[in-house]
Amino acid sequence: MLVYTHCLSIAGSDPSGGAGIQADIKVFSALGCYASAAITALTVQNTLGVKAAYNVKPDLVAAQIETVFEDRIPDAIKIGMTGDAAIVRAITGVLRQLDERPFIVIDPVMISSSNHQLLDDNGIEAIMTDLAPLCDIITPNIHEFYRLCSTQTKDSTAVLAQKLFANIADIPYLLVKGGHSEGLPTDILYSRDGNYNEIVGQWVVTNNTHGTGCALSSAIAANMAKLLPPQNRQPLSKQQTFVGKKSVSYTFNELVTACKNAKQYVSKALSCGAEVQNGQGNGAMNHLFQPEELRISNI
Ligand code: PLP
Repeated sequence: MLVYTHCLSIAGSDPSGGAGIQADIKVFSALGCYASAAITALTVQNTLGVKAAYNVKPDLVAAQIETVFEDRIPDAIKIGMTGDAAIVRAITGVLRQLDERPFIVIDPVMISSSNHQLLDDNGIEAIMTDLAPLCDIITPNIHEFYRLCSTQTKDSTAVLAQKLFANIADIPYLLVKGGHSEGLPTDILYSRDGNYNEIVGQWVVTNNTHGTGCALSSAIAANMAKLLPPQNRQPLSKQQTFVGKKSVSYTFNELVTACKNAKQYVSKALSCGAEVQNGQGNGAMNHLFQPEELRISNI
C-alpha cells in the first residue's frame, strides 16, 4: 500500500497566513509531508497583530481529530495554539484513545508577539498535567519556559529544565528556543535523563518573523515523520481497547538532527523572505523557498 508521510497540525487559524494552521500546512508541504489540520481557534489577525481570538467548541475539536484518526493515523502530530483548558482536555482525550501514538511535538503557544493572550492560565495548567505528558517534546520560548517552570528567577536553563521535567510527567524532551537570546540564537535540547545539545543558529535581519515558533515545531514534526519508518497503524475504532501507549522509538541523536534541520529550514525561510513586504507589519517567512516532492512510501 502506498502512503504519504503524513503530518497533522492541531492549532489555531491565522487568516494572514504567517502563523498557526496556515503556516504549519506550508511547512509540512515544503518538507515533503502530506498536511492535515484540525482547527482549535479562529484568530482575527494580520501582520500588524491579533485583534481577537475565538475558540472552537471542545467537542468539535475532538471530532475533527477523531475523524482524521478513524481514516489513517498520521506519522507525526504538531500541537500549537490550544486556546483553553477544555480544548486541551478534548485533545488529550482523543490522543489517549490511540493504541500507538505517533511522534507528537507541542508548542505551548501562550501569547502572540503582538501581546494578545492565546491561552489562559487554566489552559497552561491543563497542558502541564494532561496533554504534554502524552507528547514527545515541548518547545517553549524563554518566556513560556519560565512560565512552565513557575519561576521568575534566572536560575541556569539546565537547572530549570530539570524543574520542568519535574513539573510535567513523562515528557522525554524539551527544546528551549533561543529566539530571545543575547548572543547567537541558540536552542537547547534537553532530555529527561540528563542529555543536552546546543543548536546554534545565525540571526537573520528582517521584520518578517511572524510565526517563527509555529514553523520550527512543525518542521521538527515533519523531520521526525520522515526519519521514522512509515507505520501502518490501526485507524481509530470505537471497538478498540484504549491503552494509550507510546509507540515511536528513536534516539536522542536522531531528535537532535531533526531539531537542527528544522532550525536550518527556519533560518533559510527567514533569509529567503527577509526583504519582502507582504504586509505593513511583521510579515511571514518564505516557507516555500525550496519545496520537496511529497514523500510516498510502500508499507
Ligand atoms: N496566531 C496563531 C494562530 C498562532 O498559533 C501563533 C503562534 O503560534 C500566533 C498567532 C503568534 O505568532 P507570532 O507571535 O509569531 O506573531
